Amino acid sequence: MDSAGITMRVLKFGGTSVGNAGNLARVRDIVKARSPRPVVVVSAHAGVTDELLTQARAAAAGKYSLRRLRSRHTRLYKELGIDPAVVAPVFDELNDLLRGLTLVGELTPRSLDLVASFGERLSARGIAEFFRQGDLPAVATDAFDLGLRTDSRFTQATPDAVCFPAVRKALRALKDQLPVVTGFIAKDQNGDITTLGRSGSDFTATLLGAALGVSEVEIWTDVDGVMTADPRVVKKARSIPTLSIAEASELAYYGARVIHPATMLPAIEKRIPVSVRNTSRPELEGTTIVAEGGANRGTVKSIAYKRGIILITVASTRMLLQSGFMAKIFEVFARYDLSVDLVATSEVTVSVTIDTDRHLKDVKRDLTAIAKVDIERDLAQVCVVGDGIREKIGAAAEVFGVLKKRRIPVRLISHGGTKINISFLIDDEQVNRAVRALHRSLFE
Ligand code: ADP
Ligand code: ASP
Ligand code: MG
Repeated sequence: MDSAGITMRVLKFGGTSVGNAGNLARVRDIVKARSPRPVVVVSAHAGVTDELLTQARAAAAGKYSLRRLRSRHTRLYKELGIDPAVVAPVFDELNDLLRGLTLVGELTPRSLDLVASFGERLSARGIAEFFRQGDLPAVATDAFDLGLRTDSRFTQATPDAVCFPAVRKALRALKDQLPVVTGFIAKDQNGDITTLGRSGSDFTATLLGAALGVSEVEIWTDVDGVMTADPRVVKKARSIPTLSIAEASELAYYGARVIHPATMLPAIEKRIPVSVRNTSRPELEGTTIVAEGGANRGTVKSIAYKRGIILITVASTRMLLQSGFMAKIFEVFARYDLSVDLVATSEVTVSVTIDTDRHLKDVKRDLTAIAKVDIERDLAQVCVVGDGIREKIGAAAEVFGVLKKRRIPVRLISHGGTKINISFLIDDEQVNRAVRALHRSLFE
């Protein structure tokens, strides 16, 4: 209940859910069936953000084309029976921006975010128009106009909860309407448009949910919920009825693409349940993520993986045990705003993993100044998650037994501070095999 005594919800629809006319008709039905009226958060239509980023790079290199983006939207609008004129001014603005980029000939993270923001600015307008034609009082709303603020770390901005009261007030002012809010984007203190990182619309949904104090946030997507593994890798993956917030956070952070890594953060503080549901099968319950797990507490829940992992091993025979050496190593990563995933130490080495090669040269140079550095690429990180890992003896033995049987060498192991995950590194080319074998043993 919010303080007005109304049980409100935020419903977020992802790129595929808003990607074609058939799905959008289902989205409209789902929204229509809700009372009181929810707040709707939308992603760009599937494929649009990728194309925008491609054209941003092309423009900075001298030549771009809006042909694909225009025809993507025109075709969809035709199927929906709406007039493309609703987005004509947005396309004009995008065209001016890209032309500007051809003149300056360079692409900063700030202009990359500005270009990327057009995906959601377009989709919110088109979807609101489609809703209006179905007799819903929809208004397209840019999240920054609600007051959603972040820092200025373009392409990966962090929201500032200080803006919540303003967002709440702005959303309340729309209470007789149906706000269709842009996911993914916000503005910084200077008024520049920022993005919350790829897949960030999930995060927008829980941020708005926390600002409003809603009773639930629903993430509507193209699978039956959070599943026991990525269904694109494991055919027999199945939907998990309930997850604890801690389990869902670990899964998201360690690569389960179905929710953006930061999605659960706003929900944790306000203890707001989050559900993950399939737009194509609205009759299913999907997955409910609640503070303390549910009926399936005490089991192993899911396997996540992340590819493109880099392992950095720092070796020092003299200095490792001296106080301050570890701090020096981590200070190097902090200097370049890199977050470290797994960490393992031995008497003379410290190994850490990162999931990007951004600033890798700088990191190598700075670390080499204090120790011997070895860098390995093409690794994958696999993570088995579930509160059953903490409670059940032998979960780790089972995981590593499976890998041993398949002769998949394991590079680095971490049991996580929360004891609800077991993470390890393997060669990238082994990742599908490893995930399938683990799934068979743990869930089939
Ligand atoms: P949306 O556009 O709705 O945000 P995403 O593509 O971002 O959807 O996320 C949904 C996809 O996440 C699924 O199609 C699936 O391939 C992938 N995925 C990866 N791991 C999982 C998992 N454990 N459970 C469900 N889906 C997963
Ligand atoms: N449109 C953005 C992306 O493709 C955000 C999202 O879909 O959540 O990453
Ligand atoms: Mg997503």
